[in-house]
Amino acid sequence: MKITDVRTASVQGNFEWIMVRVYTDEGLVGLGEAYWGAGVETIIHRLRDIVVGEDPHNIDYLFQKMIRGMSGAGSTGGAVVAAISGVELALWDLKGKALNTPIYNLLGGRYRSKIRIYADCGHGREPTPASWAERAQGAVERGFTAIKFDIDNIDPKRFGDQFHVTPGGWAQGQQHPISNGEMDLILQLVAAVRESIGMKIDLALDCHWNFNTRDCITLARELEPFRIMWLEDPTPPDNVDAIKRVTDNSPIPICTGENHYTRHGLRPLIVNQAVDIIQPDVPKVGGLLEAKKIADLADIYYIPMAAHNVSSPIATVATCHMLSTIRNFIIMEFHGQDVTWWDDLAIGGPWISDGYITIPDKPGLGVELNEDVVRAHIKPGSSFFE
Ligand code: MG
Repeated sequence: MKITDVRTASVQGNFEWIMVRVYTDEGLVGLGEAYWGAGVETIIHRLRDIVVGEDPHNIDYLFQKMIRGMSGAGSTGGAVVAAISGVELALWDLKGKALNTPIYNLLGGRYRSKIRIYADCGHGREPTPASWAERAQGAVERGFTAIKFDIDNIDPKRFGDQFHVTPGGWAQGQQHPISNGEMDLILQLVAAVRESIGMKIDLALDCHWNFNTRDCITLARELEPFRIMWLEDPTPPDNVDAIKRVTDNSPIPICTGENHYTRHGLRPLIVNQAVDIIQPDVPKVGGLLEAKKIADLADIYYIPMAAHNVSSPIATVATCHMLSTIRNFIIMEFHGQDVTWWDDLAIGGPWISDGYITIPDKPGLGVELNEDVVRAHIKPGSSFFE
């Protein structure tokens, strides 16, 4: 079997979902999805020339060929690896279809047949204790047993006067100090969530790389009574020593990984035991086999793996296949609570039931696109696999 073409269709959900199809001379077509980012779809079109004519079964070799063909070993990250991830996912779907078996069988077989999911709740409807409590309760009523809120970047224009929140974060691209007022607001919001859902529901909190090292340690200590599942991305991804200092001084688990690429990007976090939990994004970090290699490296250090996920059902289910095959899995993200047609994008949903995704038993990914829904939400400037 030979690869004959690679095409894309970019869908505009709450993120850009870049669908990838890999075509063959035997008529089989593999379906994947790449993480969003500037230029990713264009890069996938350039990857086409690297994989056309190749045997699609040689996935690990093709991964290396794509890495070296784009910018060379050791210099690859960002949009290039996200694009490669989308093609890699499609190759696994193709291989599973060719061999008539689900992807999880090809990755070593399953530890589990369903994957536990946590619901991302963002900043809530607005950053008030009542709104966060309501948002949390809503997720629990839909069957989730774990949720996550964003405690960074709380709008200082709306709350600065009352809480003395210091402007900073994403808008300024800096790590800003957490004022006493901002700390009070964060603690009030988290307390309201805990009061709403009780202690048995797992609760993670995301900082989106916004705070400085010392304040992250203080924040972690203040949050200890709330039994937090993890504090995510306290400091930026560039400095492993800094996040290790936070982890070593934090009474609650520290988690990171979504902005690291390939096993080489995650390696320093793992071998230095700089975090308690790693959370790569599979259609961004390099794909299913790369994520499995990262999971196995982490497992040697008894570091569990969660999965960051903002994808459509395609990459979400693909990630579930991989997660079912690793020993140290704990939980996976779902970021589509507010996208009413998230389930409809793939035939066979709803995909999430009582906070779990049951992995399809069909060959390959086991999921096919609902083409009408894809066409209805094509991102301007993209096309339907043309
Ligand atoms: Mg995050």
